Amino acid sequence: MSDLNETGGPPEFNLEDGMALARAYLADPSDVPCPHCGPNTIEVVCFLDARSMEHGAAVPTSPDGDYTVILYCHNCGRAAALDLSREDGDNRRAA
Ligand SMILES: [Zn+2]
Repeated sequence: MSDLNETGGPPEFNLEDGMALARAYLADPSDVPCPHCGPNTIEVVCFLDARSMEHGAAVPTSPDGDYTVILYCHNCGRAAALDLSREDGDNRRAA
């Protein structure tokens, strides 16, 4: 099953989709509709450390502080990595 598109990877959400997903996720993490398929298809796969992501490492973390949430739509097969650490204007740091 190597159904790769011309970018050489699996289908992905575009920037607009990503922003819609981020907004929906921030509003209610348990109810994130897919911009292409509608509600009840998106799964929160895992949370990755945003700082490690910048260095190319995928390090699982807990969903607080700087983290990237990985979402996956079971219907269209698209995945999204939302870096929520920068989405939120003020950079709160746990002391
Ligand atoms: Zn979808």
